[in-house]
Amino acid sequence: MMRVISCVAVEHNLWLVLVAALVCSAGSWATIRLFLRAHEATGLQQIGWHFLTAVCAGSSIWCTHFIAMLAYDPGAPIAFDPVLTIASLFIAIAGTAAGFIAAAGRTRIAASVGGIIIGLAISAMHYTGMTAYHVDGLVEWNMTYLVVSIILSVVFACMAINVALNHRIQGHKYWAATILVLAIVSLHFTAMAALQVTPLAMRGDYTNPAALQAMALGVAVAGLIIIGTGLASYLIDDRTRSEAFRRLHHLAMNDALTGLPNRANFNDHLDHEIDRARELGGKVAIIGIDLDRFKEINDLWGHSAGDQALKTLAERMSALLQEGEFVARLGGDEFAGVKRMKSQSDLVDFVSRLETALFASMRIAGVEATTGASLGVAIYPNDAHNRETLVNNADLAMYRAKANVTRTVCFYEQAMDEAVRANRTLANDLRDAVENGQLDLHYQVQTSVSTGDIRGYEALLRWKHPTRGNIPPAEFIPLAEENGLILPLGEWVLRTACAKAASWEHPYKIAVNLSPVQFAHADLPKLVHEILIETGLRANRLELEITESTIIADKNRTLTILRRIKALGVTIAIDDFGTGYSSLETLRAFPFDKIKLDRSFMSEVETSPQAKAIIRAVLALGQSLDIPVLAEGVETQSQLSILRAEGCNEAQGFLLGRPAPFGEIFALVHGKDAAFAIRLAPALPIQAVA
Ligand code: C2E
Ligand code: MG
Ligand code: MG
Repeated sequence: MMRVISCVAVEHNLWLVLVAALVCSAGSWATIRLFLRAHEATGLQQIGWHFLTAVCAGSSIWCTHFIAMLAYDPGAPIAFDPVLTIASLFIAIAGTAAGFIAAAGRTRIAASVGGIIIGLAISAMHYTGMTAYHVDGLVEWNMTYLVVSIILSVVFACMAINVALNHRIQGHKYWAATILVLAIVSLHFTAMAALQVTPLAMRGDYTNPAALQAMALGVAVAGLIIIGTGLASYLIDDRTRSEAFRRLHHLAMNDALTGLPNRANFNDHLDHEIDRARELGGKVAIIGIDLDRFKEINDLWGHSAGDQALKTLAERMSALLQEGEFVARLGGDEFAGVKRMKSQSDLVDFVSRLETALFASMRIAGVEATTGASLGVAIYPNDAHNRETLVNNADLAMYRAKANVTRTVCFYEQAMDEAVRANRTLANDLRDAVENGQLDLHYQVQTSVSTGDIRGYEALLRWKHPTRGNIPPAEFIPLAEENGLILPLGEWVLRTACAKAASWEHPYKIAVNLSPVQFAHADLPKLVHEILIETGLRANRLELEITESTIIADKNRTLTILRRIKALGVTIAIDDFGTGYSSLETLRAFPFDKIKLDRSFMSEVETSPQAKAIIRAVLALGQSLDIPVLAEGVETQSQLSILRAEGCNEAQGFLLGRPAPFGEIFALVHGKDAAFAIRLAPALPIQAVA
């Protein structure tokens, strides 16, 4: 060690040593950065970066060596062999190229293998350079220093590459550059300590120190230019990349139309706010916002008007934001606000500013318009402890606001909103039920009151929930109507019932219930027609049951649809008559083929004279309009007797047959299951299928 220090201090020009150190440091710094870029890149780009790395590394090592050699004063005249000197430069470039390429490999030992090659390349360059260095004196080599110099170079180069690639080390690039400097410098000066020169001629005879120094500075400048070129490429690329990254990041985190933060950004922000509130003990409110009449704007004036409305609202909401407030567009006409709050009044102030922005009218397509909105608020930590539940609860509150015409803002209330949540879960299960075959049709017989003959069967939908068991249609049909699932569901019922009926030996009628939603959304006559053709069922065997609410919803449209269906030869029954409006107008407006008297009258017919009077009146009405009446819910023999006495045409009820799977009814009508047959229809003779 002392020998090395005295070699540097006594036998070298310290100014030139400093210049060498400067070149070495700048070169190592640039080399590590270029290498890391090569390590990330692929294909042609990687080759390019490897080339720049090797040129930068090779030149800095060579220049450091050459300047340091010129700084060395052996005490005797010196000369350089030009071929070997140039060769040493190429060894440095080619050797480090091999080392850095190896280090960029994907195996775990790649960095160490690359480091060893680089260490050896530095050594090979140095000792080739030394061979080119002719000094007029007796030259002796100390083998121990020589071996130590190579070991130092290999070990430090190895460390430098490993540190450079270890992103967990803070400042790993700086540490790696420093260690690479050590690899170059330790080799050089330990190798110089291995060299012992005994001058033959008189000191200074042929050497011109000023010329040597000028040469050293020339080499330093050339070296720095090469390093600078590599570094400039790196910096230009770095700038372009960070610019592109910034643009991509903005695109990924913001909505393209309005420029507001998007859902991903909103999630990040909310997570951050919740963490902050958890640590500092504050509260965070989230406000779910859904526009009320956005669809109307789109439908009336087109999509560009819709876009304009969204942009205007986004600008207004952005403009009202204060410290700790945030608004994002989650998609479509759905927005959300986040408010860091201490007291309820903070929140009330934010919500009222949002309302002002959302409800103020705007000029769209030359007309004053307003979209209005429904807002739902949930607060951390009162209403939920994590982001998902909080957003969900704000949504539930928002749906409540939407359903309530008198309120635009609703705060989450557990008791009220949990029922909604349970319904939503059930609605999701129902969606799966269609796909997983959990649905089935049961059939309930409809018979003639006077003769007991089977007239037909009503198809009734059944859902066997995997955990909750059988769920009554009165519970799941309204859910399916709310979320539109009734359309595929209703189509499935119609198709299955028609196909089953077509396969029956006896041409009984099949009655299928229709939901008002099916009238509003589907091209029902076309669907019915297609299904009849597809299943081969004769049109006059199909009866569609509708309730009065279907007609009330959009009378003219419904009547047109009903006429088109009737024109196919399909009959139409009015279901649950006597419960809703039961207006005579309904019966006048459309020639129904059957009136189904609601089962509530049947349950009271024996005890309530009023119920009996209504039954009588409806039967009289049916007779005068020439529409047969079917009484629903017949459970007892005496109820049936009353109906017979009053002249009712048809009946349906547990007494005559409970709804059952088709297989059971089939067994029943063939008399294969006598016990079942008796249980189902104790009072009426069962007609066997012909
Ligand atoms: P609905 O069309 O009036 O069907 C008759 C309902 O009365 C059936 O209830 C049936 O099981 C029940 N019922 C029949 N006889 C008696 C009786 O003697 N006593 C009593 N207490 N009840 C009797 P279910 O199957 O629970 O269906 C309820 C309602 O769900 C149906 O009323 C109908 O409006 C609707 N629904 C059923 N299946 C479908 C379907 O496929 N599509 C649509 N849109 N609605 C359906
Ligand atoms: Mg019905
Ligand atoms: Mg009914």
